[in-house]
Amino acid sequence: GRAPESSRVQEARARGAGGGGGLAATPQQGAKPASPGVPGVKHLIAVASGKGGVGKSTTAVNLALGFQAIGLKAGILDADIYGPSQPRLLGISGKPSVLPGGKKMLPMEAWGLKSMSMGYMVDEGTPIIWRGPMVTQALNQMLREVAWGELDVLVIDMPPGTGDVQLTMAQQVPLSGAVIVSTPQDLALIDARKGLNMFRKVDIPLLGIIENMSYFVCPSCGARSDIFGHGGAEDEAKKLGVPFLGGIPLHMDIRAKSDSGQPVTVSDPTSPHAEIYRRLAARTWAEIESVEGRRTEPPKLTLSADAASLGVAFAGGENYNLSAEMLRVMSPSAEVQGHSPEERQTIGGKRKVLITSLDPVGNYAVKIVFSDGHSTGLFTWPYLEQLGREKDARWSAYEAELKQKGLNRG
Ligand code: ADP
Repeated sequence: GRAPESSRVQEARARGAGGGGGLAATPQQGAKPASPGVPGVKHLIAVASGKGGVGKSTTAVNLALGFQAIGLKAGILDADIYGPSQPRLLGISGKPSVLPGGKKMLPMEAWGLKSMSMGYMVDEGTPIIWRGPMVTQALNQMLREVAWGELDVLVIDMPPGTGDVQLTMAQQVPLSGAVIVSTPQDLALIDARKGLNMFRKVDIPLLGIIENMSYFVCPSCGARSDIFGHGGAEDEAKKLGVPFLGGIPLHMDIRAKSDSGQPVTVSDPTSPHAEIYRRLAARTWAEIESVEGRRTEPPKLTLSADAASLGVAFAGGENYNLSAEMLRVMSPSAEVQGHSPEERQTIGGKRKVLITSLDPVGNYAVKIVFSDGHSTGLFTWPYLEQLGREKDARWSAYEAELKQKGLNRG
């Protein structure tokens, strides 16, 4: 078989752990080969934290669901072997089944998200004494002996901290990049810095910092208070030269939903929290593409006078005109895309829909609000580009689908 490490990781290792590779945001030379260890999975990203209890696992699961909610195929691998929490966070119980031939396991699935965790293999409360080599063996099995299928991104929920185990894991996996979750307090940021340094050492691109429990939102009155001060992590990210991906509030609903296996991104998709996770996912995706050297420059968006179509002009000269109806029925939202390709909805009756507003999201996406109230689609530049390029084929496929399901355009 093939070497389990990407050439990039091997190169990094050959250069020695000292590395000094400068900012990890430097695009890699040439096209990165598709993750050699995991066929079908385009990107593996690590979600890590300098210490435990900062909400890393909660963030990882909602981020993975956020990727799905913006139209990407995602999965999550719980590499937190000491304290696997994905079974609880996703509300999954039972054991994974083994495929005929006995070589591969099927991942578990909830909310359309494929998931694998040590928690499915051993009963909760069974103490396991992990020795170094077992840790990497377990990780490799969950990564390579699982039928993940076709995924745009597999999120790896790392064990908290920055010890040898984490370092070895980071080296074992051909990562496209790493996201660091931190809380705003100074101490946590110092820990976060350790996390950043760990990935820099092994030359893994840093996609950015997510600030969790960034501010407090009162569950009864909705008022926001910046109990830890404001902008700490953002300033720190700037100083450290890594992108600030965004902040997540400290909120009762996030905790309660998460601890009962109903992650807010899918159980309450119209909530402000779900929107925050979708934005984090879109921003993180933009960073993944940027690290790959494929950043899409923001296109010029022009709404037609009758609000029935959108002009999308890319810097490269491509110019597309997309109807409000097409954008609506192909919205990259969970409502339209479902949680998996099989669940994708065919939406009819939108011939007369208009665009009510265009709400820019960072420099990587636009939120489109439609006259029927739909507003959960976050259109990233690559998605708009894809819609433009495949406009005719997609529209014919849509019309055929309508016909087949006995629907019409209204
Ligand atoms: P870690 O993986 O860093 O150890 P967890 O994701 O397990 O942390 O989160 C620790 C606790 O904090 C959990 O009970 C979780 O529900 C809660 N939590 C995480 N993020 C938030 C948030 N933004 N608002 C409220 N509670 C949160």
